[in-house]
Amino acid sequence: MPKRMTSLAGRRELLTGLAAGAMAVGLPLLEVRAADTAPQRPKLKVIVAGAHPDDPESAAGGTIARYADLGHDVVCLYLTRGEAGMKGKAPKDTAAIRTAEAEKACAILKVRPLFAGQIDGGTEVNAARYDEFAKLLDSEKPDVVFTHWPVDSHRDHRVTSLLVYDAWLKAGQKFALFYFEVDAGAQTQLFRPTHYVDITETEERKRKACYAHTDGPQFYPRYHDLMNRFRGLECGRKYAEAFVHHYAGAAGALP
Ligand SMILES: [Zn+2]
Repeated sequence: MPKRMTSLAGRRELLTGLAAGAMAVGLPLLEVRAADTAPQRPKLKVIVAGAHPDDPESAAGGTIARYADLGHDVVCLYLTRGEAGMKGKAPKDTAAIRTAEAEKACAILKVRPLFAGQIDGGTEVNAARYDEFAKLLDSEKPDVVFTHWPVDSHRDHRVTSLLVYDAWLKAGQKFALFYFEVDAGAQTQLFRPTHYVDITETEERKRKACYAHTDGPQFYPRYHDLMNRFRGLECGRKYAEAFVHHYAGAAGALP
């Protein structure tokens, strides 16, 4: 963290500067109010990559809905189909249930689901997996990609983060890269945001998308509602989502 972020005034100034940089890549930041009007910028391809069905929604559902409402093309990319997520159920049956839940959540957010074909609880990072994932991401030609912050207690989250980061390097850092938080404190750790998105108008849709998942009613009030409110407090809005922007992404470079 740069020294100039240590004071509140300095932090505000820096955030304003960062916001200007993010506007260039179409991130629906605080200043962007016209969620119900035609996009002012070219249509962007936005990928939100999570390890399991419910990760993109719970981390960035409000931002995803805002992008979609602005007319951008948004894809929720799931590394797995959540095969290990239901106790006592066979992986194949669980995958079918959680795939359907992810599809329902994406319909609520008005985005497209995409599955990367790895297995929940057994995700891998190796040369073949790096290549496979980079090819998939490249085929979508993203302008902006969001993924897990890498310091996370869940192995699959860390794997997803590494795969995205490697693909971004391989692509010449040409798309903007943002990291998100999930179940802050319990899973994501040491996360210090650089950007905030006001999700006050889309929080209800985010909540519905998260409740499309069996675990939504259990986890949303416990983690995600608190995260939305806390990040909102930090930036002076009712609800917000927070991200860390990688400064080196060409499309997201600061002015
Ligand atoms: Zn997860």
